[in-house]
Amino acid sequence: MGVAWEAVIGLEIHVELLTRTKMFCSCPTSFGSQPNTQVCPVCLGMPGVLPVANRRAVEMLLATALALECTIPETCKFDRKNYFYPDMPKNYQISQYDLPLARNGRLVIGESGEGKKIRIHRIHLEEDTGKTIHTGPIDRSDFTLLDYNRAGVPLMEIVTEPDIGSPQEAHEFLRDLRDIVGYLEVSDCKMEEGSLRCDANVSVRRSGSETLGTRTEVKNMNSFKSVQRALQHEIERQIELVERGERVVQETRGWDEAQQVTIPMRSKEEAHDYRYFPDPDLVPLEVSREWVQEIASTLPELPGAKRERFSRVYGIPEYDARVLTCNKEMALFFEETVALYPNPKTVSNWLMGDVSKYLNANNIAMKDLKIPPRLLSEMLALVDSGVLSGKLAKTVLEEMLRTGKSAPVLVKEKGLEQITDTEALEKVIREVMSEHETLVEEYLQGKEKAFKFLIGQVMQKTSGKASPKLVNELLMENLKNEAPAQK
Ligand code: ADP
Ligand code: MG
Ligand code: ZN
Repeated sequence: MGVAWEAVIGLEIHVELLTRTKMFCSCPTSFGSQPNTQVCPVCLGMPGVLPVANRRAVEMLLATALALECTIPETCKFDRKNYFYPDMPKNYQISQYDLPLARNGRLVIGESGEGKKIRIHRIHLEEDTGKTIHTGPIDRSDFTLLDYNRAGVPLMEIVTEPDIGSPQEAHEFLRDLRDIVGYLEVSDCKMEEGSLRCDANVSVRRSGSETLGTRTEVKNMNSFKSVQRALQHEIERQIELVERGERVVQETRGWDEAQQVTIPMRSKEEAHDYRYFPDPDLVPLEVSREWVQEIASTLPELPGAKRERFSRVYGIPEYDARVLTCNKEMALFFEETVALYPNPKTVSNWLMGDVSKYLNANNIAMKDLKIPPRLLSEMLALVDSGVLSGKLAKTVLEEMLRTGKSAPVLVKEKGLEQITDTEALEKVIREVMSEHETLVEEYLQGKEKAFKFLIGQVMQKTSGKASPKLVNELLMENLKNEAPAQK
């Protein structure tokens, strides 16, 4: 082939904001109610109603814009985006066209030092659409159900420049963006539930070329993984086309999760198809510098800064710092535990390992963890003092996470204290040795493997409670005593 191709990707990300009420009316935004119970004349687009912009939604967007280092113009306005599809009862969506709330930001993805800058083109505010449910395949369904509970929910759209070079980078960008938005508490960002949605624009070009190729826009991906797969597939499809000497058609394609392919949906619409014009019912929005200042002063330490501080202050690996800072609650738990038990790497191992495993397996969020940092530090101290073996500590921790009980209480309740009593262990060892005389013989004749087996037997007889170190020493000693002939 000879020609190397490179991918060019730009993302359009929709984030549902966690306001209590909708973007232009006071209907609640809560999820899961009976269809069409959270609607009013405003979000249903009745004649004569007047929309009023939700101040909180604007503030949430501004916080995100500041975190992404955007420029925030002093005025912006809302526009009507006209289209005919029943998911909006008004036949238009209120959005922002040429004067968005924020522009020209950036997000540096990847590990610090070698990070890559992805420029943010713009961030604007709009309202979400309702949900359409077709009964059966869309082209053959007898009727379509409409639920307008979601119509009018505040939506923030973040558009990147075409700076993303691979599906992997797209994944990193989405992950970092989700973490930031999570820190700001402006959205719960769940792709599976639709509170974060991502359309991916993608084209290919000869490596090193400066001009952009013709792009397609891929929709309908509902997890980070499917974004990555859809992009991979679409890049391969486009490369195959151009290598055959054919042209990429500019169009919107949908990701088919079952077939793992992108399929054509519709030809790409142009801005003029939407006949944008300023919404005459909404005055332009003035964004005073004082207001922006006020929001800037409430921003928390962001994931990137926290990550850098964690590596520096606690001396933990870059990887650990990233995992521990992916949400605020985890980061706080880590810091509070380390304050009580000053061995950062040990705390990190337990949090990234057993604690995270438990949370994932049971689909529990860090903020709903049943134990406070003090209980984890107590458990770790019990391991250090030899009361609890490393292996049993895992069992105890799981029980702690399940019940919220402390390690000392659980150790007592279940009789899990590590056996460090030499006499008691000696007795078990003698027992095992007399039950396995041939193995003892074999060991004495130089078969090292027999030793491991004997250890295993002792551990089994003590239900794993024996201190492995002590068993090792005592068994060695006893075996030596068995071998008078060799002396
Ligand atoms: P539209 O409004 O039609 O969706 P925009 O010009 O706003 O189009 O671009 C949307 C997204 O597509 C942006 O993220 C942008 O970076 C990206 N994009 C534009 N041109 C290309 C291209 N040739 N290849 C890949 N992505 C592109
Ligand atoms: Mg688009
Ligand atoms: Zn309403």
